[in-house]
Amino acid sequence: MGKFTPLAHSIQDALSLFSYTSLRNGQSEAIQDVLEKRDSLVVMPTGSGKSLCFQIPACLFEGLTIVVSPLIALMKDQVDALQRKDIPATFINSSLSSDAQNKRIIAMQSGAFRIVYVAPERFRSTRFTYALQDIPIQLLAIDEAHCISEWGHDFRTDYRKLKQVRIDLGSPPTIALTATATPEVQQDIISALGLERPKIHVRGFERENLFFEVAQVRTQKEKFDRIDALINHHKNQSFVIYCATRKQCEEVVGNLKKRGIKTGMYHGGLSDAARRKEQEKWIDDKTPVLVATNAFGMGVDKSNVRAVIHFNIPGSLEAYYQEAGRAGRDGIDANCLLLFSIADRGIHEFFIENTHPSKMLFEKLWRYINNLGKGSHSVDLKLMAKSFSTPTWRVHVMGLESALRTLQFMGFIEYLKQGCLESISVYDVSVGLDLDWRGLNQRRAIANGQLKNILEYAASTGCRQSHIVNYFGGEPRFSKGCQKCDQCLGIPEYAKISMEQNATKIPSGGEDGLLIMRKVLAGIARAKGRRGAHAIAGMLVGSQAKSVKQAGLQNLSTFGILKQMKKDDAVYLLDLCTKFSWASRNEHGCVLISKAGLEIMKELGTPSESQMAFLELTFVSRRSRSMRPSRSSSDSLSGTGSTYAETLRLHQTGIGYKEIAKSRELTVQTVLRHLQKLSLEGEAVDVSGDIDKVLLEKVRGVVGNWNFGDREKPLIEALDGVCTYNMLRLHLIPLLKERFDSK
Ligand code: ADP
Repeated sequence: MGKFTPLAHSIQDALSLFSYTSLRNGQSEAIQDVLEKRDSLVVMPTGSGKSLCFQIPACLFEGLTIVVSPLIALMKDQVDALQRKDIPATFINSSLSSDAQNKRIIAMQSGAFRIVYVAPERFRSTRFTYALQDIPIQLLAIDEAHCISEWGHDFRTDYRKLKQVRIDLGSPPTIALTATATPEVQQDIISALGLERPKIHVRGFERENLFFEVAQVRTQKEKFDRIDALINHHKNQSFVIYCATRKQCEEVVGNLKKRGIKTGMYHGGLSDAARRKEQEKWIDDKTPVLVATNAFGMGVDKSNVRAVIHFNIPGSLEAYYQEAGRAGRDGIDANCLLLFSIADRGIHEFFIENTHPSKMLFEKLWRYINNLGKGSHSVDLKLMAKSFSTPTWRVHVMGLESALRTLQFMGFIEYLKQGCLESISVYDVSVGLDLDWRGLNQRRAIANGQLKNILEYAASTGCRQSHIVNYFGGEPRFSKGCQKCDQCLGIPEYAKISMEQNATKIPSGGEDGLLIMRKVLAGIARAKGRRGAHAIAGMLVGSQAKSVKQAGLQNLSTFGILKQMKKDDAVYLLDLCTKFSWASRNEHGCVLISKAGLEIMKELGTPSESQMAFLELTFVSRRSRSMRPSRSSSDSLSGTGSTYAETLRLHQTGIGYKEIAKSRELTVQTVLRHLQKLSLEGEAVDVSGDIDKVLLEKVRGVVGNWNFGDREKPLIEALDGVCTYNMLRLHLIPLLKERFDSK
């Protein structure tokens, strides 16, 4: 087999082919394993240099290295880079004509390449597998190996077949590589590939120049204050802001532009050309800030990103690390800021529920399709969703779409959507609906588990980087935390300035902030895990409300121990206890004291430095408060347990205001008032689907200086009876939002 002669005879030789002087931490161990023909699993972050772990051995072997990767779009760049270094490599994938594929297969058989990149589907082609039979395969490299695991975040069925492919190739030494695999996923990869006693290398998750930070915020305004502060901190530098949805991207872009910040946008709803243009402008530093969904980032190599901000929590810690890790590739200090608002959790719960439709929805849809019968039918998913819904079960268009796609994938139907025209072609549905319910439930459980993991990261009080390294099953290199994150070092200076100016301040009445917190904890302890934040807050401030009396809370020793405080402020402090992990909430919303909380309460423990710093910023003595402008009721909006936050959460899951009222057992008037106040605060409230444009202009004509809390009667009179009070309230929402946006 002389035709596969090695390109180099030592690792050093091979390194010089790449023009590198040395191997990086983690690479040499992995390469050594491959050279000893051992199977191995390499878990190293994106950009850490995983490719070299198979490329160097490929140059030393007398034979061929096959690289399996799902990322067809990136193969050409990878191969071009190798060819520029005179390393004979190619890719064979569906982007080539069959003629070109054939030519490459023939060249491969004649020994023209040392490295061939393919997608996992390639092994379905007998032309290809047959050709491989005559070739000495020295190494099988499986990139993005987490795709083999159902527990990973990017499962691909063709990856599951790679175990058999390996056997068919004569079980060559195999190296599996991934940037994101928890210990469970690692084990899954090993068994799904049938690796034999593999070495596992988890390396490089520490990033010395990155400052990881989670800012717990309650309002949209706080998010923008934080962004402003960070943009000021790294003036005229490059940023990415990740948002959970396209709509959210648009809002953020709109807001930043109004503040005079040059901002680009990137999401899946834009055309390829538009996306490319936005990306290039950002890479060339023409637009410093790029606001994007998770559609952005793959294969993007920009080294001078000074901050990656997450406007909403992402769906998993894997995704978070991957996205945040795009900051500071040049080794210079950079920030990774996660803006965490509990309301955002609802967005993900909504996604998870609707991308993993329930059995009930599938069955209902199946009956519907059976009734349609064979042939093509035009449909309206919005109407369908409405007709499927019941008072206790709301069906969303997104859930229907996911279910239809599944049925299409299984060959029962075809669902077509062109503009606003939608149709379903029904094929053979005479068989029963036999879906893999277990698998469906499992995937939903996985998505929920991943959400839980990122929420744990956000709530964690330990070193952020250690948390991440441990999550991926590595051993943190630092013994006393990274000494770089908000937990190790406290709130960063840039943010302190912003918080001093903008944070909710609570009058301490001259009392020590920590003492106040101990009283709050005492209140939580006395309620014995049976009450929610509002009831406990009512008790602490000595509220005379019926609900407090009826619950017998006025008889507790903690009744009225924070008499001087407003109830909203007490709710905020209860939230703070949860944020500090001094308390938690159960599924009924009842607040429970934690072990750490008990220790603080009993003065057996002391708060961390960052908690103390936070408390310092939270409380203000009465004198300095009186120098501040008076606090409007909306200043204290939406503590995470508040009624506003709950309305916002439901609104953001796409539920209409009338349904929110129904499900919360509130009047429509109350819910509309909530939405008005939330709009005024700059929260993402969007009622455009319910707005009558003509009426909106009429309301705009009479609104004048009307403000939230003012009487509505004069407006109704000025409108001369063209609408009801609730219609007026509804149409005031976008007008109040405009007012916030123009501030
Ligand atoms: P990954 O696959 O882990 O995302 P890559 O293999 O694409 O990372 O490598 C990331 C970058 O690091 C590439 O530009 C590569 O050229 C560079 N690189 C990798 N190893 C070394 C090394 N030993 N010395 C210098 N540069 C390296």
